[in-house]
Amino acid sequence: MSFAFGHLVGAWLAGKIYEYFSKNKISHYAWFFLILGGLLPDADFLLDWIFGYDVHRTITHSFLFLLLAPLLAYLLFSILKNSEKKKFAIFLGLGILTHLFLDSFSSYGIPILWPKEGYFSFFSGFTPYLPEGGLLEGNAEVLLYKLKLTIVDMAIGTAWIFYLWFRKKIQF
Ligand SMILES: [Zn+2]
Repeated sequence: MSFAFGHLVGAWLAGKIYEYFSKNKISHYAWFFLILGGLLPDADFLLDWIFGYDVHRTITHSFLFLLLAPLLAYLLFSILKNSEKKKFAIFLGLGILTHLFLDSFSSYGIPILWPKEGYFSFFSGFTPYLPEGGLLEGNAEVLLYKLKLTIVDMAIGTAWIFYLWFRKKIQF
């Protein structure tokens, strides 16, 4: 479970759970940072593709990033004198946390202690560094498995959009 819709819906659910228990509404722009946080760790895919490095799941899937990204957001919005700076940083952090949580359900896990070696997964615990290979690498069996995960992800996204439509949250 490591594709865009899964993470989008994960961050959205975290926001809904927060709203339910805190009895507070998340502001319009804070929602943006929550959703952004849910997707941001996988922006390293772009670096993979553009530069041909295999950097996926390194720093952006670690505690270090979970601390640094919200801190940077806080500093940036302090400079811009935005009164919501604290909220933006917290919701960005919450989004990243949901991403790391969901990715920990994959078999190879995430390098949570990066730059220290080792991958964490809920299934296999801590394992030594094992590069997963690029998204589009692997034998036919591996690629077929990834394709199936992609289709599941599309189904999650489609179901979510229909749910929002059904609840009259969006209109076509
Ligand atoms: Zn990820």
